[in-house]
Amino acid sequence: MAQPDQPDRQERYLQTATAFVEKALTEQKGYRWLGELCEIGPRLSGSENSLKAIHWAKAKMEALGFDRVILQPVMVPRWVRGKVEEARVIESARVKGRKLAVTALGGSIATPREGISAEVVEVKDFAELAALGEKARGKIVFFNRPFAQQLTNTFAGYGKTVDQRVYGAVEAAQAGGVAALVRSVTTRYDNVPHTGSVNYREGVTQIPAAAIGQIDADFLSAALKQDPHLKVRLKLSCQTLPDAQSYNVIGDLLGSEFPKEYIVLAGHFDSWDKGCGAHDDGAGCLQALEALDLFKRLDLRPRRTLRCVFYINEENGIRGALKYAREADSLGLKHLAAIESDRGAFAPRGFSVEGDSAVIARMNAWLPYLQKADIEWVRPGGSGVDVSQIKNAKALIGYVPDSQRYFDFHHSDNDVYEAVNPREMQMGAAAMAILAYLLSEEGL
Ligand SMILES: [Zn+2]
Repeated sequence: MAQPDQPDRQERYLQTATAFVEKALTEQKGYRWLGELCEIGPRLSGSENSLKAIHWAKAKMEALGFDRVILQPVMVPRWVRGKVEEARVIESARVKGRKLAVTALGGSIATPREGISAEVVEVKDFAELAALGEKARGKIVFFNRPFAQQLTNTFAGYGKTVDQRVYGAVEAAQAGGVAALVRSVTTRYDNVPHTGSVNYREGVTQIPAAAIGQIDADFLSAALKQDPHLKVRLKLSCQTLPDAQSYNVIGDLLGSEFPKEYIVLAGHFDSWDKGCGAHDDGAGCLQALEALDLFKRLDLRPRRTLRCVFYINEENGIRGALKYAREADSLGLKHLAAIESDRGAFAPRGFSVEGDSAVIARMNAWLPYLQKADIEWVRPGGSGVDVSQIKNAKALIGYVPDSQRYFDFHHSDNDVYEAVNPREMQMGAAAMAILAYLLSEEGL
């Protein structure tokens, strides 16, 4: 039944949504903060840079006048790349001496100092590797399946391709291989290698694992057809150090009516040690930060508490998310909803929601307001690696921008400040602010 104040309320929501968008697009604060953050450099968990960035974020939240700013301590893994990472063809009639563009996968062990020198066997997938039987023994296993470009959603394409990066070292070791070389999981055809985590499995010999740029992957594949016995030498000096002290950064704007009901807006603050983690996920964090700051700039006090969380260690351990969720659980915190932005700072498309059908129907009714920030849909689907650890929230939500370019940049030297478009990033901040506003006003 229509309530008497409904037309007024709808008008107020439309005006507020428009104000969020206009302020975000004209003032571009989050985009400028991203510039400051990228000056610090990449933020691999446990690194000195990551701590600098954490203190920068805390100071920023305090300067913005948040009601509460918390550093939540958490121990994180500390993997370091080291100075040496190189691959070279060392035996071949035709291409001897040719260097290959490689980078160690995150978590990889080092090679011996003199490197690993071996013949190379190329496969497209684990089934092909298994079919080789003993032929992979003593070889560098080269996983050369290209990114699944046929899918319009690049995250689905990534999902179909990334197994060779994550599990390639285990599969190669089980086949008797001495190292894994993996075609970079990227949509962009260049020669920049893309890192990302590699998993080892207890009981399976750990072997070094590296990514190779797409152009050199094609080069190596062609060279192997001419000369199947060519040899490559791979040298990596990466290592895993003892766990390091780190922190999640949390900033709250207290709710005026329901301060104990939390709406989380989040990104992950760690990045790989390539580029500066601009899209992944500096931008997502700063969209969350700006969404809260937009309330302040518009002099709006939320009815429920808005909580900005910069999670640490999403890339190689999710220790930050586990710590936050565990602590929230033990304190009995009531989370109404949590929104994560970790799909790049591109133009808004929708919100993907883990919640029951009533919750999703309710959020769909908000589309007229969300459309002010070009949000086109709200539908069931995954939220985000970090927020999905939170228990008992009514809605876990992923902000979904256009996906076409994300994997051009992801986990590589391409992921720099210049790769972020200010208007697209700001639209995401506005979309998150509008949704947080509606959640805060209406509940679920
Ligand atoms: Zn990410």
